Amino acid sequence: MSATSTRALHIADERPLHRLTTQVLVVGGGAAGVAAAVTAARRRLDVTLVERYGFCGGGAVAGMSGTICGLYMASDSPDAMPQPLVHGFAAEFADRMTAAGGLTPPVRYGKTFSLVHDPLVWRSVADRLLADAGVRVLFHALATEVLVEGGERVGGVQAFTKQGKFRIEAALTIDATGDADLFAMAGLPTSTGHDGVVQNPTMMFRIQGVDVDRFLAAHGSDAIMGDAVSRKIVELNAAGVYRLPRAKVFLFRTPRSGELLCNCTRIIGADGRELNPIVARDFSEAEIEGRKQAAEYARFFRDHLAGCENSWINDTGVQVGVRQTRQISGVKTLANDDVVAGRKFETGVARSAWPIELHAGARPRLAWLIDDYYEIPYECFVPQHGESLLAAGRCLSAEHEAMASARVTAQCFSYGHAIGHAAAIAVHDNVAPRHVEGVAVRAALDRDGAQLGSVPKRATIGEPVAQV
Ligand SMILES: Cc1cc2nc3c(=O)[nH]c(=O)nc-3n(C[C@H](O)[C@H](O)[C@H](O)COP(=O)(O)OP(=O)(O)OC[C@H]3O[C@@H](n4cnc5c(N)ncnc54)[C@H](O)[C@@H]3O)c2cc1C
Repeated sequence: MSATSTRALHIADERPLHRLTTQVLVVGGGAAGVAAAVTAARRRLDVTLVERYGFCGGGAVAGMSGTICGLYMASDSPDAMPQPLVHGFAAEFADRMTAAGGLTPPVRYGKTFSLVHDPLVWRSVADRLLADAGVRVLFHALATEVLVEGGERVGGVQAFTKQGKFRIEAALTIDATGDADLFAMAGLPTSTGHDGVVQNPTMMFRIQGVDVDRFLAAHGSDAIMGDAVSRKIVELNAAGVYRLPRAKVFLFRTPRSGELLCNCTRIIGADGRELNPIVARDFSEAEIEGRKQAAEYARFFRDHLAGCENSWINDTGVQVGVRQTRQISGVKTLANDDVVAGRKFETGVARSAWPIELHAGARPRLAWLIDDYYEIPYECFVPQHGESLLAAGRCLSAEHEAMASARVTAQCFSYGHAIGHAAAIAVHDNVAPRHVEGVAVRAALDRDGAQLGSVPKRATIGEPVAQV
């Protein structure tokens, strides 16, 4: 075909455009999007949730990240019991998962604990919560354009479906895509990682056929495998027996019998470059490389880990797990120092004690916050530019290392919970999201049992205080 023929091409989609109007539009049904949609709908708003897959859960389900991290404090004591830190929607979701048989009791993860979930149960629990709250859910719908008015006001999106495009107009739009897709589409400022380099993606997988009791007896109950396993990997890599690019591996028992969830792979490009999943070529390469590495790790486990001799890969993620892509540029950016210093804010709407868990280089780096926590202020979700638009979830405004702590599931639930309330205040009171007071959001969260506590007297809005 000659190149000149392209001149005759024009864009066509002759299917009719469908129209929908809603008060609050949530794009993305991960932990943050589900929490935001349910919270706004519980406050008697008409809410529509648009999700590209046929189920909710995002990184936790399609990416099979597999555990709810971030619910507990961290301690140096090896005998410490799980000490709950995060309440509200995150705890409600966890309780419902437990009631449905889809969540383990706390599993030790270094100096803290996490809860391992069944991704199928996650989907059903989310379905039920959304239905009970009266959220209109549009699955298999990919937001492809934003509707913009006067340069900066976002009034909804257009979404691709097999039926044709949907034009969804909204009084307030929440970007819970994880990737800040709507901000990028609207041309609003975003940032990406450390000088454009993001944490590497991981292909999560599950192995079945494991004798879990024997595995635990041999390797202990901490999901972070000990140095003996890491040394074996390094030694056998050097001998050319395996190609295992990450020596520190995390293996979790799950609510299903005979199963381990495996967070092991480290995916980089064939030419050694770090892959960025919003680059189409990188995303494709990551999927293929991820599946290859999953098979190689599963072979190593079969050959060398007690209890895994007869195991096999049961499943990999629907997509490679994406830790980090774009962050919005917010009115406040969560600084690395806010995390390390355990800062609390008058407008704090979520708490975290999760370590900075940086997946870059050959070994994930963990920096713990012991017996303390930090807060994430409302302004991290309010864009510097752009109206009628809020962010929720891992695309919050945060520096690179801060994001490596603030991105886990319990916190993403908390962000969605907060932003659902902020949306309700904005729509009910007819104020711009940037004029919603973070202290009012905090109070609304506490009425739902978030237990954030009283606002420190000395702080001014957005300024850190030493301690509450
Ligand atoms: C490998 C890996 C391991 C992890 N391990 C853990 C762990 O053990 N414990 C833990 O708590 N956390 C873990 N995390 C982090 C956690 O899974 C995520 O940070 C969290 O799920 C993010 O939630 P979110 O709602 O912000 O975004 P996401 O979960 O990314 O959800 C975004 C949703 O938006 C949808 N979407 C995106 N773009 C569009 C669009 N244009 N139109 C429509 N829909 C769209 C997506 O399909 C998705 O459902 C891990 C992450 C990775 C990658």
